[in-house]
Amino acid sequence: MEYFYRDMRKKHQIMIDDDLEPEGGKWNYDHSNRNQWKGETDIPHERGFRKDVAAIVDLLKKEGVITIGRIDENNFNWPTSRQDGLDILNYFCEYLLIEFGTYQDAMHTDQDYLYHSRLSFAMNSKLLSPREVIDAVLVRFRESEKPKIDITQVEGFIRQILGWREFMRGIYWKEMPSYQSQNQLENHNKLPGFYWTGETKMNCLSHSINNSLDNAYAHHIQRLMVTGNYALLTMTEPSYVDEWYLGVYIDAIEWVEITNTRGMSQWQMEE
Ligand SMILES: Cc1cc2nc3c(=O)[nH]c(=O)nc-3n(C[C@H](O)[C@H](O)[C@H](O)COP(=O)(O)OP(=O)(O)OC[C@H]3O[C@@H](n4cnc5c(N)ncnc54)[C@H](O)[C@@H]3O)c2cc1C
Repeated sequence: MEYFYRDMRKKHQIMIDDDLEPEGGKWNYDHSNRNQWKGETDIPHERGFRKDVAAIVDLLKKEGVITIGRIDENNFNWPTSRQDGLDILNYFCEYLLIEFGTYQDAMHTDQDYLYHSRLSFAMNSKLLSPREVIDAVLVRFRESEKPKIDITQVEGFIRQILGWREFMRGIYWKEMPSYQSQNQLENHNKLPGFYWTGETKMNCLSHSINNSLDNAYAHHIQRLMVTGNYALLTMTEPSYVDEWYLGVYIDAIEWVEITNTRGMSQWQMEE
């Protein structure tokens, strides 16, 4: 991914100087992205939408649609229009970008979102294009003063979109359709029942699963290191893992779900 990401930076002229060297002197500030969050900052969450979706929920119930997770019918909190998408992007640039990179890999039981952008659904459903998200972040970075946003926050964010997201898209087209039936570790167990209830004494799992069920959201560390890793350790059949991730997250679309689930969390990538 790292070399792909560098090529993408050059190809799209993003944070690159005239000699095709990275702005700031380094391609990657991953080491600055690994801090714990211990309550030391006020996280200005969140841009809430508070939509009333009771009529849709009624319809789903009436039609007998089997669902996963929980919904607050008067407080559906995701963007559903172009304007909502722009609002959530602006909100991120204004309030969250400034600490995004610092706490990118953190987890905390009091925080469902930390400084994450919650922009994946808006991009996956094409309310926003990845390029305009990157451009908006760069504008905010360049205009910021007192406080000036640090390059480590911005590079960490752009890496996720220009690097990881595009890389996953390439892997999907390279590996599918055989990818979806691979099971190299020959794992055949089912997922434990608590993935549907969140009821377990294992605190990280309980919090990550309840975040998923309540908000159709978990940030990447919860998905990768907690729910994904537990499924791997308990030798779960990868297609059951896929089904759960596809069902539970608002941003789940196969090309970005299956590549992360199989490639990153279940070690199904061939050498
Ligand atoms: C097992 C597993 C399953 C996943 N399934 C999905 C999925 O179905 N849909 C999906 O969009 N993302 C998926 N991801 C990637 C990532 O977890 C989510 O994109 C991210 O948590 C969305 O929250 P955010 O918008 O607040 O992200 P932020 O942390 O704010 O990151 C900014 C953006 O970068 C992109 N991004 C970050 N990490 C990745 C990644 N690993 N792959 C692709 N794009 C990334 C997303 O578009 C995201 O909106 C998965 C990751 C794992 C480990």
